[in-house]
Amino acid sequence: MAATLIDGKAFAAKVRGQVAEHVARLKEEHGITPGLAVVLVGEDPASQVYVRSKGKQTVEVGMNSVEHKLDADTSEADLLAVVEQLNNDPSIHGILVQLPLPKHMNEDLVINSIAPEKDVDGFHISNVGLLGTGQKSMVPCTPLGCLMMLRDHHGSLSGMDAVVIGRSNIVGKPMAQLLLGDSCTVTIAHSRTKDLPDVVRRADIVVAAVGRPEMVPGDWIKEGATVIDVGINRIERDGKTKLVGDVDFASAAERAGAITPVPGGVGPMTIACLLANTVTAACRAHGLKEPE
Ligand code: NDP
Repeated sequence: MAATLIDGKAFAAKVRGQVAEHVARLKEEHGITPGLAVVLVGEDPASQVYVRSKGKQTVEVGMNSVEHKLDADTSEADLLAVVEQLNNDPSIHGILVQLPLPKHMNEDLVINSIAPEKDVDGFHISNVGLLGTGQKSMVPCTPLGCLMMLRDHHGSLSGMDAVVIGRSNIVGKPMAQLLLGDSCTVTIAHSRTKDLPDVVRRADIVVAAVGRPEMVPGDWIKEGATVIDVGINRIERDGKTKLVGDVDFASAAERAGAITPVPGGVGPMTIACLLANTVTAACRAHGLKEPE
């Protein structure tokens, strides 16, 4: 392997350490304990794993964790009432409604019912607009984690050619906004993109957020490029269940200058950024200086 491994697990541990220090200071100097509420509707197994992990890490950094678990047949009105109660609770600084929601609910309506200043996922239309216009906002956790790893590796991203594969509201689009904010020349590719291999071959930075196991082979990667693999795909191989990304790690690592592994890359950074966003929300709520 020629590429430098970007160790998201170690980086996330560092971010959590900084969050824990900030939380300790908020408690000591201001008597504030940041609180994060996670709302889970239904029993999607992957969502249950994420919610458990978020709750555990929230407590580990010294914050309060509140979980609301609602049945899959909960009405939209009842879910909105839970969000409203959390919006009005001063001990709660961050609210996250775990997606996907059951089919009978309008996801946009629910997300936009969260108070924007408590929207630690950064999916509320106000935060999307603020990010798009370069104003202070809550930044979606997965793209924020990717950006932090890129800045850490490169220092400045100015002038670099970046290709984001995927245009979802939760990863692809905000990722592109953040890269543009850091003065990259950004291309957003998707399922209708023509000549995807050629588009990817131009990129100094490739962010793959597709949800197709090992779709990006090494020969699409420009020599020395930085590859951030957001994909989390569960596959069966050699009779075992394995997690792989959207990039074929082995062949891409031969050509890339730096690459994130799956698991241990973007995944751990996502939750670390959620915790960091919650501290930011708590500071803003009390008019205190935000973490850098
Ligand atoms: P979505 O399914 O919402 O979006 C996938 C995107 O990929 C779409 O824009 C789609 O294009 C595009 N796409 C699909 N097929 C192709 C193709 N053949 N060529 C080019 N583009 C294609 O997924 P998400 O953005 O929610 O997630 C993407 C991946 O990231 C998943 O594996 C998910 O599990 C993972 N993920 C990881 C997180 C983490 O913490 N590490 C957090 C969130 C997601 P079109 O719009 O045209 O359909």
